[in-house]
Amino acid sequence: MMDSSSVLIVGGGITGCAAAWELARSGATVRVLEKRDLASMGSGRTLAGVRQSGRHPAEMPLAMAAVRRWETLHDELDADLEYRQDGNLRLAEDAADAAFIQKMAETQRSLGLDIRYLDGNDEVRGVAPALSETISGAAFTPSDGHANPIATVRAYATAAERAGARFESGLTVTALARDGDCVTGVETDRGTYQAEQVVVAAGVETPNILKSAGLEFAISLAMVPVVQTVPINPLFKQVLGTAKAHFAARQEVDGRVRFSSGGHPIVVSTEGLTRDDMQPGCGRTAETLARAVSIIPALAEAPISQIWGGLVDLTPDGIPVIDRVTELEGLTVAAGFCGHGFCLGPVSGEIIRDLVLGRTSRFDLEPFRWNRSVAHENADSPELLG
Ligand SMILES: Cc1cc2nc3c(=O)[nH]c(=O)nc-3n(C[C@H](O)[C@H](O)[C@H](O)COP(=O)(O)OP(=O)(O)OC[C@H]3O[C@@H](n4cnc5c(N)ncnc54)[C@H](O)[C@@H]3O)c2cc1C
Repeated sequence: MMDSSSVLIVGGGITGCAAAWELARSGATVRVLEKRDLASMGSGRTLAGVRQSGRHPAEMPLAMAAVRRWETLHDELDADLEYRQDGNLRLAEDAADAAFIQKMAETQRSLGLDIRYLDGNDEVRGVAPALSETISGAAFTPSDGHANPIATVRAYATAAERAGARFESGLTVTALARDGDCVTGVETDRGTYQAEQVVVAAGVETPNILKSAGLEFAISLAMVPVVQTVPINPLFKQVLGTAKAHFAARQEVDGRVRFSSGGHPIVVSTEGLTRDDMQPGCGRTAETLARAVSIIPALAEAPISQIWGGLVDLTPDGIPVIDRVTELEGLTVAAGFCGHGFCLGPVSGEIIRDLVLGRTSRFDLEPFRWNRSVAHENADSPELLG
């Protein structure tokens, strides 16, 4: 039982934990309910690129503001997040890729992003010598970067706890509790929790919670295979991604290389989801490994430490919902991040805080409305991940 000015957050990923920090330090009484462990789904399985390049035009202001926040986030949270701002390289493997990337760079420069085109293999390898001779060009965004996702989520949670938030893991929210058109809390497998406001930030499982109140949240899923090597000598500093969005990689601070082959549509029930449901098949894994070695030949010698899969929550128009739900007073949803939610975490937390506290956001939130039409689907839109 909680007091009537409290906020319950469902989901202990980066979105829920960043929201908990922003709300708790603003004086709200906050409790986070997490089904597994903190950062056990998207926020722990992620590649953890902190990237503005390639973003949907509507999302670009959020991504750019998020990067400004990332630059000082370690001070704000008083923790080492292993954040590195060494840039992003979007790689061309053929002439069609090069044309696509050049056009993308032009569009994104017009949105205010410092992104430049590196023409030819020599120029690209001047920046990242480990890349294959088959890379014919790249878009370079110097202010992009990457961070340690689990350290970041834990840092948010610890900071939120210091500010008074409470966290409970290992319990499942089974339904929204309501009185008429008002949310009054949640039902869990450990009983009812009351609250004046509820924030659902449950990633791919968000629809399961909303449907208990008759609310439909249409997302599809993609599975992203991820391979992580043991620590190896420094190979490259930037976050790498291909024009076709079928490969992305970064080298972590301890030398491990984490790479993926992009998202693959998957149909799986998220009710009762287990780790095995998310594991990539042998074919996808083989494809991921082959692509990695063709783009970064030195990886052929790198011993593998782990292979896992992560699920991505895809909305029809490629950008998330971050909004109060019109049908149910007191309910806020933040989900459907389409493979971009790690970078956006600091800003998502801030937007959720403003929505919950009834403050005016510094961002244009129209594109992220709950009841938007999906007519603003964008052909240039943005690839998954990175
Ligand atoms: C392989 C991969 C690579 C990615 N690469 C990038 C990248 O490079 N850059 C980037 O910005 N983004 C990337 N993303 C996307 C990004 O990681 C996610 O968008 C982000 O982590 C989502 O965070 P979240 O907190 O919204 O959701 P999640 O991290 O999924 O957290 C939701 C939490 O809710 C909990 N939960 C679910 N149901 C319930 C329930 N009923 N009761 C209680 N708790 C519940 C879950 O256990 C989970 O911990 C990637 C994602 C994947 C999978």
